Amino acid sequence: MMLLYYGYGGLDTVQLILIGAALLLAVFSQSKVRGTYEKYKQIPANTNLTGAQIAQTILDHHNIHDVQVVPGQGAELSDFYDPKKKIVSLSSNIYNTNSIAAMAVAAHEVGHAIQHATDYKFIAIRNRLLPMTIVASNFSMLIVMLSLIFYSSSIGQTMFWVGIAMYGIVGLFQLVTLPVEFDASKRAINNLQTLNLVADEDIAGSKQMLNAAAFTYVAAFLSTILTILRLVLMVVGGNRRRN
Ligand SMILES: [Zn+2]
Repeated sequence: MMLLYYGYGGLDTVQLILIGAALLLAVFSQSKVRGTYEKYKQIPANTNLTGAQIAQTILDHHNIHDVQVVPGQGAELSDFYDPKKKIVSLSSNIYNTNSIAAMAVAAHEVGHAIQHATDYKFIAIRNRLLPMTIVASNFSMLIVMLSLIFYSSSIGQTMFWVGIAMYGIVGLFQLVTLPVEFDASKRAINNLQTLNLVADEDIAGSKQMLNAAAFTYVAAFLSTILTILRLVLMVVGGNRRRN
């Protein structure tokens, strides 16, 4: 029975290592972005502009007048650009303060607005994948779990690979997200520099803040790959043991 390999008693060393690696990645990337944010939200940037002012200045420079910069209601690090509503939503600390973190995050979110306005190609691919990804990320785990109960039947085995394909769609989406995120950060630094919105001594800190944020996206992608690898190895290993 496949369940034996999944639930109790079936976790071998490789499985445990893969689970541990995924967990470590998640914990490390989250604490890294938190820690970097906590550091740079305390340090005022030398140019003395709030995140909201930085965002507005960059939008104006690019002649983007249909995007609004609004204070978000969410917790810290919940900043986003919404292409449907055309808003750059900045959490209150980013919106209201002139810290290095505020400057970097605000410029990054505007980077997404510029990508949208200029039809940056990876955004289009990402948007096309989005509906499938929402379905896949909601059901992949459930389908794989169910498939393992019926794995001795051919329906169970088919279901398993459908579930793996769903994880694959999520992974593909996360992979396409990487160039989008790196590009938004690159635009952020370029804009801050060319518009003289950042003092030279604050550039390194801004980059650190953006790199820490970008790493959470890399970690999410790697963790999906580890999950796929773990599930496939579990089934392949299970078959081998049965044979
Ligand atoms: Zn982003």
